Amino acid sequence: MEERGSISIHTENIFPIIKKFLYSDHEIFLRELVSNAVDATQKAKRLSSVGEFDGDLGDLKVSVAIDKEARTITISDNGIGMTAEEIKKYINQIAFSGAAEFVERFKDSGDKSQIIGQFGLGFYSAFMVAERVEIVTKSFQKDAEPARWTCDGSTEFAITSAAKEERGTNVILHVAQDSEEFLETARIKTILDKYCKFLPVPVEFEGQIINNPNPIWTKQPAELTDEDYKNFYKELYPFSEAPLFWIHLNVDYPFNLTGILYFPKIKNELELQRNKIQLYSRQVFITDEVKDVVPEFLMLLHGIIDSPDIPLNVSRSFLQADANVKKINTYITKKVADKLNDIYKKDRTTFESSWDDIGVFVKYGMLSDDKFYEKAKDFVLLQNTTGKYNTIEEYKALVQANQTDKNDQQVWLYTTDAEKQHAYVEAAQNRSYDVLKLDTVIDSHFIGLLEQKVEKTTLKRVDAEIVDKLIERDEVKESVLNDTEKESLKKIFEQAIANQHMTVEVTALSPDDAPVIITLPEFMRRMKDMSRNGGGGMMFMGDLPDAYNVTINANHSLNQRILNAKEDNKERIARQAFDLALLSQNLLSGSALTAFVKRSVDLIDKE
Ligand code: ADP
Repeated sequence: MEERGSISIHTENIFPIIKKFLYSDHEIFLRELVSNAVDATQKAKRLSSVGEFDGDLGDLKVSVAIDKEARTITISDNGIGMTAEEIKKYINQIAFSGAAEFVERFKDSGDKSQIIGQFGLGFYSAFMVAERVEIVTKSFQKDAEPARWTCDGSTEFAITSAAKEERGTNVILHVAQDSEEFLETARIKTILDKYCKFLPVPVEFEGQIINNPNPIWTKQPAELTDEDYKNFYKELYPFSEAPLFWIHLNVDYPFNLTGILYFPKIKNELELQRNKIQLYSRQVFITDEVKDVVPEFLMLLHGIIDSPDIPLNVSRSFLQADANVKKINTYITKKVADKLNDIYKKDRTTFESSWDDIGVFVKYGMLSDDKFYEKAKDFVLLQNTTGKYNTIEEYKALVQANQTDKNDQQVWLYTTDAEKQHAYVEAAQNRSYDVLKLDTVIDSHFIGLLEQKVEKTTLKRVDAEIVDKLIERDEVKESVLNDTEKESLKKIFEQAIANQHMTVEVTALSPDDAPVIITLPEFMRRMKDMSRNGGGGMMFMGDLPDAYNVTINANHSLNQRILNAKEDNKERIARQAFDLALLSQNLLSGSALTAFVKRSVDLIDKE
């Protein structure tokens, strides 16, 4: 038997076009051919189970072999095979028309990069690395004649009879000059490891099975132990610390999706970037660029998602609009929120001890997704300076009595740096106020979100005002100084400070409070932070010098002493008291610090 023919497609010579198209991604030919081989074995299994094939299935297997001398790569399977008629139908018509369609669709497309690695070119991708391809195949059907098909990538092909005893297909690639790299064992091994690690049928290469055909995400959670999940994580990310916890995803309606998502211990940024979520389709690795499939804040998670319902052969913008992708997004978000809620409810101790790792991610989720916010608001934790954790509800109850101002607003105090703002934290604690620790990058945004969502609540940094003013009440403290004395005290300090960005005010505070307190108003600081982070329309503010408030405690004995001091000494003591306030704010440096030290020595010397 010998038959020659011409493949009926409209685009002549699509081979060079495809080759150029996928230049950077030639390696996917192996994924495509091994997947086809696996499919053929799966079909044999199915036919056998429904009684349409009564022969011996044997051990279903796919193997990949390199022959360096003959310059071939052979992909063999013991699947259903093909008859000569089927070759004509499936290879000549389907495979080639698929390739032709591909070229038609993307010939003039500007964004080629988006197609690469996403479009399963199927059988035709063999021609990206081979100058000639042979198929030797024998169908599972009774008395089927084995057949051989050869083609050099043009639209001409030949079918002849062949000698093949066993059921199945060998695809033999005669590797082209410019693709010699694929005759290297190491190169092929790397590609197989990347794409074929979890294919459902054993894949043999160089005498070894290179895959795990039953990865745990294909199993039922009830069959699995914690060890199984941890081991699988190790298999995916060999160099990473054990994960905190995980979610087993499993849906089949309205879309099909399985997978396991892990909450990592966030050790460093690098790890987050390296250990990406991997996307599979029926156990074939597709990509680890899951940007459009997984909600952005969930990209901090690790693990794998397997879904045949994610369209892989379309552009990014289409993917974002895809109904399935949207549903998948919603589903994953809900699952993650439910899991966190579950741990919070069942094991609060673990939840709290993991908060350092999951806090960032929960806050990020609340900021970026309203639905996630609605779920997470019940378990998001606020940590205070003593290390205690409260939920939003708990915290409201905790501070209600002591931190509600005259306008019936709760004032939540926070510090961004408990060390640097120590004096203020302590002053607040002396009033029995609670101080939250909101010290991460994401917290500055989270503060805004809390104010927006939690009713009748404002947040103030502990050093935004003197402690008496942080939570405004109607009560007025008695002052031991009269108005004239206050006025002259103010003048003395203004002259001593001599800085137009420092607004001096004399106020009656408790005699135990510091004599001089420097604060940066909350509003001012937030505006500056915002403009520093590129906030809209306020770029100029970042350049402004900080405008501080300087509060002089009228009831402190030191200030009374200044008023009573000798004329030429007043300013000196005032400056010293001011410098001490600067020092406690970490604001004293340079020549001012040197002058302060000198003055201090002088003062001690005189005692
Ligand atoms: P797809 O796999 O997307 O259908 P391909 O171009 O990869 O497209 O393959 C076309 C068809 O050729 C397959 O659907 C299948 O029927 C047949 N085929 C390819 N490889 C094999 C194989 N190893 N064994 C049996 N049939 C195969």
